[in-house]
Amino acid sequence: MASDTQEQFESDLLGVFKPTDDLAPLDWMAQHCRVLPGIVGSFDPTHTPWLKTPIEATFDPEVRTIINMAAVGSGKSIYICVCTAYILAKAPSDILIYQPKNDAARDFHRNALRKVWDGCPPVAALLPNDKQVRWDCLRLDRSTVWTLGADAESNLQRYHVKWVFIDETWSLKPGHLKQAQARNLSYGWLAKTVMVGQAGLIDDDNDKQWQSSTQEEYSWKCEACSTVQPWEWEAIKIPEGSLTADGINEDLIAKGTKMACKGCGKLYDDDDGVRDTLNKTGCYVRVNFNARDANRGFHWNALPARNWGETAIEWAKAKLAQSNGDEMPMQLFRQKQLALPFSSEIMDSTDEVTPGAFKLKEDWADEGAYDLDTRQVIAKRDETKTSHARLRFIGVDVQRDGFYCLCRAYATDGKSRLVDWAFYHTIDEVEAFRKRCGVLAPFTFVDCGDQQDFIHRTAARLGWNCTRGTKKNDFPWPVKQADGTMKVKNKPYSKPREVEPFKGLVTRVYYFGNLAFKDLLWRLRRSAVHQYPTDAGEEYIKQMASERRVKTPAGMPIWKAPAKRANHLWDCEVIIMLPALVFGLAGESKSSVGNVKAPEVSEETEAQADDN
Ligand SMILES: [Zn+2]
Repeated sequence: MASDTQEQFESDLLGVFKPTDDLAPLDWMAQHCRVLPGIVGSFDPTHTPWLKTPIEATFDPEVRTIINMAAVGSGKSIYICVCTAYILAKAPSDILIYQPKNDAARDFHRNALRKVWDGCPPVAALLPNDKQVRWDCLRLDRSTVWTLGADAESNLQRYHVKWVFIDETWSLKPGHLKQAQARNLSYGWLAKTVMVGQAGLIDDDNDKQWQSSTQEEYSWKCEACSTVQPWEWEAIKIPEGSLTADGINEDLIAKGTKMACKGCGKLYDDDDGVRDTLNKTGCYVRVNFNARDANRGFHWNALPARNWGETAIEWAKAKLAQSNGDEMPMQLFRQKQLALPFSSEIMDSTDEVTPGAFKLKEDWADEGAYDLDTRQVIAKRDETKTSHARLRFIGVDVQRDGFYCLCRAYATDGKSRLVDWAFYHTIDEVEAFRKRCGVLAPFTFVDCGDQQDFIHRTAARLGWNCTRGTKKNDFPWPVKQADGTMKVKNKPYSKPREVEPFKGLVTRVYYFGNLAFKDLLWRLRRSAVHQYPTDAGEEYIKQMASERRVKTPAGMPIWKAPAKRANHLWDCEVIIMLPALVFGLAGESKSSVGNVKAPEVSEETEAQADDN
């Protein structure tokens, strides 16, 4: 039984988290927080009802950690600003706020925290008048606020505070989340950690934190059948026919998207008034009962806050990009809009992929062309023009005893067809194969990982290009911005490096990321954009099913051919991913099928073109 003294002691400690006036935290914030980052008006919990329970939990003395997995633009910054305002005014104590990097920390301090605090009279009264005050360390009479970048090791040490706020938790480097959380350990059971951010990857530190939490889902109640259900993407119904091979009918999606109750099927209109009504029934439903009650987790996605049609258009674009082999938009959609972690796990290449309804070497009406005069990819070849070349590439895999060669034709929408493949013992035979297939010399790409000097000399002599697969998957490319400044963008292949084995004869070597290229090829095959003919042969089918995506003991995914299975034709297809990417026929720039522009002539395309 607790003694009076102990009860008194506990109530004193609990008092730290309680207001000294009658207002509960939410009411205090509504009364005093008059300026918010990014929006006009004062803090009104009814505008962001999904923040109510997380804010209440933040000031619940029984709660130790809170992780909020939330859609971008759904009030995450507001949450940190109003909670810290309340702490400074009502329960002064030291606060550490982590942003991903130092410059983000500075921006957040100046453009979010200070705006809200300056506009909140009880906090403004405590702030120093000095305009030159440091953004990273703000000292008040009874508390100090540090705003720091979580990427710097030194920022993850030394500090000891009661409150740790971690923004964009998903972006922290492995291990840094633990270090950041440890900043309040010396406060024992008075310490609080509040994490906020979109989702990252399955099994990353952020996801593990979420898995160990109560996992409470923001939910709504159907007015027809009273079913309480989470706001789920699966409930969003996009009109039939809005996503076709020709592209996306944005208008149809914008006008016809609805949300269906999973209990009775009632359809709700995409309308702010409807969302407001459903939000009035908003509540959190706990999913994980194994977690400690002190370790709360809250998840809300964009659906309670954002127009469903707009969201669905973003999803449709991501879906289309995915079917063209570019997974990134879908990854971002999941992480940022649905606030769900993403998994890039894919199985192996042994999945059966059925052939297209065509034969080897067959003419293909959709095959595109390359205009040597304008150096552009165009939709159709004019056979009367000598400047119009076929849009075909050859990949050559070099073996000790010969060469696997494979020719693939492309349409400008990114679809491609295997034209022919063969194995030859001599370079002369490969060169004859190239001419028979009607492929430009610089559109021939040969792997120079083996017998490098010989391949460099051969490629320089015949005007081919060289490729080399590496473990590295990101290569920096400087990209000129509209305002003339340069910015670095990562691509899965390098800028070409010139090699001059003979005086005046040059070949170009492109390095590429094995993982990125093989993932891309796998996705393209699965989505039937990358096709092969019915008579491609047993050997082709066998070799294409030769590699599996596995994880190394260190957890890195790699593609591997089990037990020395022949994978040479697979390698040829991997090599052809290079010109496909360079010419915008696959990957990121293919996100808008049906509206494909020929790539601008740049140093990327020049590399292939200037030999002719
Ligand atoms: Zn219902």
